[in-house]
Amino acid sequence: MPTNAMSGLPEPAKDLWGRPLRSLRISVTDRCNLRCQYCMPEENYVWLPRETLLTFKEIVFLTELFSEHGVDRVRITGGEPLLRKDLASLIGMLQQNTRIQDIAMTTNGVLLAEHAQNLFDAGLHRITVSLDTLKPERFKALTRRDTLAQVFEGIESVGRVGFQGLKLDTVAMKGYNDDELIPLIEYGKRVNGEVRFIEYMDVGGANDWSAEKVLPRKQILALLSQYYGAIEPVHENSSAPAQRFRLSDGTIFGIIPSTTMPFCATCDRSRLTADGMWYLCLYAKSGLDLLKPIRERRSREDLVSMIRSVWETRKDRGAEERKELEASNGRGQFIDIERLRQDPHLEMHARGG
Ligand code: SAM
Repeated sequence: MPTNAMSGLPEPAKDLWGRPLRSLRISVTDRCNLRCQYCMPEENYVWLPRETLLTFKEIVFLTELFSEHGVDRVRITGGEPLLRKDLASLIGMLQQNTRIQDIAMTTNGVLLAEHAQNLFDAGLHRITVSLDTLKPERFKALTRRDTLAQVFEGIESVGRVGFQGLKLDTVAMKGYNDDELIPLIEYGKRVNGEVRFIEYMDVGGANDWSAEKVLPRKQILALLSQYYGAIEPVHENSSAPAQRFRLSDGTIFGIIPSTTMPFCATCDRSRLTADGMWYLCLYAKSGLDLLKPIRERRSREDLVSMIRSVWETRKDRGAEERKELEASNGRGQFIDIERLRQDPHLEMHARGG
């Protein structure tokens, strides 16, 4: 394995398309306290057995291995990450790894107000809160929980405890919240958060997805420019999933067009589930089990060689392949419900969005 003369570390792993291993999403639980129709429409799921969840020490150990081979950004996610007990102590352990430049978390915000200070003190850098609507009744219908007020409190706590770079992620859905794009941007201005509209994706299986419900990037821009006037793209050299735009008053917002304009070519993300399965893509049907080898105390070299060989032989481009199916009208349910019941890893909430 070639090493870098300056750092003495192995050269970062690159896949067959030249994509570097960089950004690791770590799911700390598959459980969630909301039941969003587009993500967890069922009330009960087959949950990952508790004894299979990676301990904080195991997560830190795996992150260390990944960071020696290219990973320099991590995002804590779930399920709902704030349901994992004592999450701040995991953040404190991760931030001791000096190769990790950025530690972020995606949350639904419900429990955020009570944890924000501890997370900030522990060294978390940035928070993204998912927020699809500003209307309590709509929130209740979408999530089947009546907790929008807690989400607002959570969002307000972010700046108050000292975080910068708040992002608000909205899944934009036709006929559901397409009348709220402007109110959401205006709310973002008030709380100093950058709103990002995510196109509805056909990930997992039980997600109620249909092409008609997707609000494409093009339409999002058209709706916003009717109200705000000229919108200009922000030119930046980044592998971030969001394309960013500027309104005439300087407000920046983003669009993550995973469904209509997939960005597989620049994707450097991979995902570790709460029980140690490593997936390269939200659309991957199989992954690498890292729990078994670490519990069997396999050597560091063995683990590294498994990780590197998976990344270095990768040439999947899941979202582009899904899009190509449109030509033959084949874009429907990604995975059928029976298969999902047999393997909970295939769902978005297990894999971490
Ligand atoms: N519970 C946390 C939250 O709500 O942010 C983290 C996990 S959640 C799976 C991560 C993100 O995935 C959320 O922003 C959610 O809206 C998004 N998501 C889930 N299902 C989706 C889908 N079918 N299409 C697009 N985004 C989706």
